[in-house]
Amino acid sequence: MRRKRLLWKLYPAYLAIILLSIATVGIYASTTLKKVYLHKTAKDLEARARLIEKEVAGSFTNENRALLDLLCKTLGRSASTRITLILPSGEVLGDSEEDPRRMDNHAHRPEVKKALAGQIGVSTRYSHTLRKEMMYVAIPVIKEGKIIGVVRTSIPVTEIDTALSIIYREIALGGVLMIILAAAVSLYISRRISQPLEEMKRGAKRFAEGDFTHRLLVPDSEELGGLAEALNQMAQQLDEKIRVTTEQRNELEAILSGMREGVLAIDTEERILMLNHAAGSLLGIDVSTAKGHTLQEMIRNADLQRFLGEVLTGQGPTEAEIVLHGTESRFLQVSGTVLSDSGGRKIGALVVLNDITKLRHLEDIRREFVANVSHELKTPITSVKGFVETLREGAIDDKENARKFLEIISKQADRLNAIIEDLLSLSRIEQEAEKGEIQLMEGDLRRILEAAILDCETRARERNIKVTLNCSDEVRVKANSRLLEQAVSNLLDNALKYSEPGGIVEVEVIKDENEVAIKVRDHGYGIPPGHLPRLFERFYRVDKARSRELGGTGLGLAIVKHIVQAHGGHVTVESTLHKGSTFTIHLPNPHKGLPSLPTM
Ligand code: ADP
Repeated sequence: MRRKRLLWKLYPAYLAIILLSIATVGIYASTTLKKVYLHKTAKDLEARARLIEKEVAGSFTNENRALLDLLCKTLGRSASTRITLILPSGEVLGDSEEDPRRMDNHAHRPEVKKALAGQIGVSTRYSHTLRKEMMYVAIPVIKEGKIIGVVRTSIPVTEIDTALSIIYREIALGGVLMIILAAAVSLYISRRISQPLEEMKRGAKRFAEGDFTHRLLVPDSEELGGLAEALNQMAQQLDEKIRVTTEQRNELEAILSGMREGVLAIDTEERILMLNHAAGSLLGIDVSTAKGHTLQEMIRNADLQRFLGEVLTGQGPTEAEIVLHGTESRFLQVSGTVLSDSGGRKIGALVVLNDITKLRHLEDIRREFVANVSHELKTPITSVKGFVETLREGAIDDKENARKFLEIISKQADRLNAIIEDLLSLSRIEQEAEKGEIQLMEGDLRRILEAAILDCETRARERNIKVTLNCSDEVRVKANSRLLEQAVSNLLDNALKYSEPGGIVEVEVIKDENEVAIKVRDHGYGIPPGHLPRLFERFYRVDKARSRELGGTGLGLAIVKHIVQAHGGHVTVESTLHKGSTFTIHLPNPHKGLPSLPTM
């Protein structure tokens, strides 16, 4: 329904009241005035009749008819009144307008009848003589206590009407003026009442649209002023509450989105109420579109579903580990609690998700490492134990074999020693790197490489392999020379081990703006491509038997990797089977960003 403006409700009501009052007053005034005027006219006519009565009382006889008629005509003209003199018989003696002889008997005229009865007769009726509406007043002519005739004065009603209509017009004019004035005043008043309300409506609309900074003007009337103040107060409180709520929500959002743990809230129908970015990326759900969807729609995982069901029903554990199967399996530790509203009613569940994939991975590595170490140590120990047993059981007396066995025992002990040395060195490097205890100093790279080559000289000679060095004198690196030398030695040792005798191993340094690359290249057996990604893992060996045969521990490359990482660099390998391998240590250029000096 279309609603009317308050102004158009107030104003017509005012107008109707004004019109009704003015019309009532007008009608009442007009009728009263008419009554008063008629009464006054009758009195007037009566007074004139009295004057004439006094004049004619002495001569009111048939004999004076001519004289009396003349008197009627003279007086009638000057007083603008019709004057009629009538004998008690009803015969007309004189008349100001007509010839009395031609007039009929007036004995039955109502006013004449009354006058003849000694009273004042007043009558308004149609005059057949004059053919118009007249007002008549008749009084008796008394002489010596006897009624000797009647004096009748009259005027046409039209004259009264004319006079009254002038009065009516005046009243109507006054009324119209009053209406115009009252209409204008009531319009002004209606506006004054409705305008503040309209302004309040506009202000309230702005509040409804969320603009709580706006303030309503307070009108001076008590009710509207109170209402405006109450609305302003309400807006201020709402503004404050919304501000506080928004701040709290922003804080909460900032906390949730900054959390590494995934947080997920669902309702009792398992529809998503909220999930933070971490939860989105853990579960592979788009955070922006997830809200309102059920979790089943977004992710299919029976374990997670079961866990949520258990949390929602309040049974079973609130902590569990679940696995998300995808291209890579992810392990999540989930803990859940029931969400309740302020009235204690259950409204859903809150789940915190922790990605423990890395932890799991580390645990796996550790387990594998322990197994590997045990295995690596077990082989020489079994061997040592076996030969000791053999010696004890009598072989000790067989001199020749005894020496051979002791040599094998010694070799196995060396091997054990080498493994333990390498393990210790690896863990020392790891620990020092973790604590930041590895001192890096800028120094001459060539010197380090020459030392490493010298280190391997014995083995090189044994295998008749030539080691060449290609490094300009001015290449400098920020390094721990002892450790870097060890890393290069390890690479050289491998290059010599896994090459046919009589070959060549090249050490080359390539420097560019960003890095210094130390390449150790051999032309040996090479490595099948499938093994390359895992080559730097502890105890990883391509050919276990050959490595063992050559006295390898499987830890050499792991040590290289850790040393290079402690220098802020990385190590890479390129290899072609039966053609050879190139291991490259990439170290950051200590003069990165500085213009390089021209070489002499
Ligand atoms: P190991 O003590 O057995 O040499 P490393 O960690 O040094 O252990 O090397 C791991 C494995 O990588 C070796 O067992 C070997 O199979 C392979 N490898 C390392 N360097 C070379 C190389 N230059 N040529 C061929 N294979 C190599």
